[in-house]
Amino acid sequence: MFDIDTIRKDFPILEETIYGKPLVYLDNGATTQKPKRVVEKIEQGYYTLNANIHRGVHYLSQKATEAHEEARKTAQSFLNAKSSNEIIFTRGTTEAINLIASSFSEEFMEAGDEVIVSAMEHHSNIVPWQIQAARKGISLKVIPITEKGELCMDSYKSLFSEKTKLVSVTHVSNVLGTVNPVTEIIEEAHKRGVPVLLDGAQAVPHIKVDVQALDVDFYVFSGHKIYAPTGIGILYGKEEWLEKLPPYQGGGEMIASVSFEKTVFNELPFKFEAGTPDYIGSTALAEALNYVTNIGIDNISAYEDELLRYATERLKAIEGMRIFGEAKHKSCVISFLVGNIHHYDMGMLLDRLGIAVRTGHHCAEPLMRELGIEGTVRASFALYNTKKEIDTLIEGIERVRKMF
Ligand code: PMP
Repeated sequence: MFDIDTIRKDFPILEETIYGKPLVYLDNGATTQKPKRVVEKIEQGYYTLNANIHRGVHYLSQKATEAHEEARKTAQSFLNAKSSNEIIFTRGTTEAINLIASSFSEEFMEAGDEVIVSAMEHHSNIVPWQIQAARKGISLKVIPITEKGELCMDSYKSLFSEKTKLVSVTHVSNVLGTVNPVTEIIEEAHKRGVPVLLDGAQAVPHIKVDVQALDVDFYVFSGHKIYAPTGIGILYGKEEWLEKLPPYQGGGEMIASVSFEKTVFNELPFKFEAGTPDYIGSTALAEALNYVTNIGIDNISAYEDELLRYATERLKAIEGMRIFGEAKHKSCVISFLVGNIHHYDMGMLLDRLGIAVRTGHHCAEPLMRELGIEGTVRASFALYNTKKEIDTLIEGIERVRKMF
């Protein structure tokens, strides 16, 4: 059962006061707070389990290896991947997209080839492709968005050509909150024999993701946005694709044998995990995924949907309120501006009231240009937020509005 009081007790930071005011943390799209059991897992890892993994014959090394590989299985089951070989540990979403951009374009793309992205991408799903564009002469095709902040699906279909090699789009927008129609996106791409990468950074903390049901080719996310530590994330890739891709980085762990004449790469998943991995981070990530699974992702979605509905309704009642992103399927992210109050001023003044929101372009400058604005204020919710906190946000905005 979803018991908000118990859940809030799991997150000690929520007890903090900021400038003497109770913390109202509404910057979960940037990063989430960590439950005690995740932090304890890290502490326990370093106190009782710390030894470099794989290759070690001694007890601690074997224990640490088992914990790391168990964490891979937890991530596999969380995403419902067919095999744990399909789960690659990365530093996060950004590294995972860079890995695919680099390895996929090296193996499968040549000058003139195209990648389809959308107008609502985070910079981390734009710039890695631009780096490949400069290196290999590939180009980006961009799916436009509607006024409500949904993808124009007709335009999407018309962007495909003989040269399209990959579709790489976000599952949920970090600015607009739009939950994209990923099943249709994947079906349309697959009809044309084109694989799809989904950026799940803003999706996995909020909605159930089943990579086999989606039939998605690559799916990536960051641990820190789903109650896990920073510096650890997941790249899921269908085994048949990962087998075909060349390694991203070279070094220890990713080799089967090395000589100066010839090096043989290791098998999956190790081929993509050069160097000592963050084996404490991986176990903490697994702990966070188990935490979410125990509460139930569907319970979390239902609770957060209610927060989103309540916050949207109350925000809309504020004079001069403009909300960016009114998609039919929306996750709990609300970007807004009030009258002509600059987003930084709003963010700074809310901060003085203990309310943490994000301001600026949210690493989505092309989207800001599309919306004709420089930035927004963004409130993004997590499973531990409450309607009372939303009330505090509303009172705060009203106070700032009156000051102007
Ligand atoms: N994609 C989306 C949609 C995001 O919201 C973010 C983080 N704001 C990223 C990618 C990048 O994630 P990270 O910085 O953890 O690699």
